[in-house]
Amino acid sequence: MRGTLAFVSRVHAGERKDSRLRLAIFTSEDKKLCYIYTHIGQKSFHCIECKHKKYVYVSASVCQENPDGSEYIRLGNTKHVCKPIKFSSVKNEVIKLLKNSGLKTKVIKVDKSKIVGEADFELRLSKAGVPNGRMIIIDSKDRTKCYEYFYRKAANRYFCCKCVTVSAVVVKENDKAFIRLGQKDHTCQPVKYEAEKPIIRKPDFKIFNLTDTRRVQRLVIFTTKAQSHCYKYIYDSHNSKYFCSECFSKESKRVTAKHLKDSEGTEYILQSKMDHICEPLTFNKKDFDD
Ligand SMILES: [Zn+2]
Ligand SMILES: [Zn+2]
Ligand SMILES: [Zn+2]
Repeated sequence: MRGTLAFVSRVHAGERKDSRLRLAIFTSEDKKLCYIYTHIGQKSFHCIECKHKKYVYVSASVCQENPDGSEYIRLGNTKHVCKPIKFSSVKNEVIKLLKNSGLKTKVIKVDKSKIVGEADFELRLSKAGVPNGRMIIIDSKDRTKCYEYFYRKAANRYFCCKCVTVSAVVVKENDKAFIRLGQKDHTCQPVKYEAEKPIIRKPDFKIFNLTDTRRVQRLVIFTTKAQSHCYKYIYDSHNSKYFCSECFSKESKRVTAKHLKDSEGTEYILQSKMDHICEPLTFNKKDFDD
């Protein structure tokens, strides 16, 4: 079907027993011939003829990814073994055209360069701790580099943090996820790829509220399971973050960490990208006793 325009309309089988939604895909603009697909769940359809006569699964899925909600059809790779039928003969059955039949919807040819496979993107926590609030896409030309995207809920898609015009949408199909990039190319340069800093969960961190003269909140991130060594952080109420006191006193470097809660209310620590210049210190519980 590549190269030819196809038109789609959703039809359903009216009073017949099988009232599953049908999809007609026309082979040409005159809309005379079409293949009829039946709904098999979610947004997927299978060609009825191919499936029933030859057990060949010719699939088509309805994709909806434009901010205006407009739909298009993506065709699977399997070719029909059936012959298209006259749409007029379908009409003779009890079939109604649905309101959103999308008769003007075009089949969009899949541009492989705009598809990003599972191995080449990562969904991450946003800086504010929102799960999947950020996305990293590895640069296909140089795998040590990447583009960073932020999520915009209203558009249900991601945008490049630097040039914003490049958008990306997560498409889920048969339990697999991939990314479809928008048509525009980046005007920005990719940045160095850095692995995501691990999220630190209890018991690998502890927060102490010191009530003595220091009156300051401390965070301890343990670097060993035995809790013998740790990094020590001090709360900075201006920025609502903790910073490593050693790195700061040595080189005025702010290695920060945020105390957050995930959607289930479980507390965790999100570290900043910067690496410590300090070494872990021995942990003495009495330093933190009031
Ligand atoms: Zn077919
Ligand atoms: Zn960009
Ligand atoms: Zn440090």
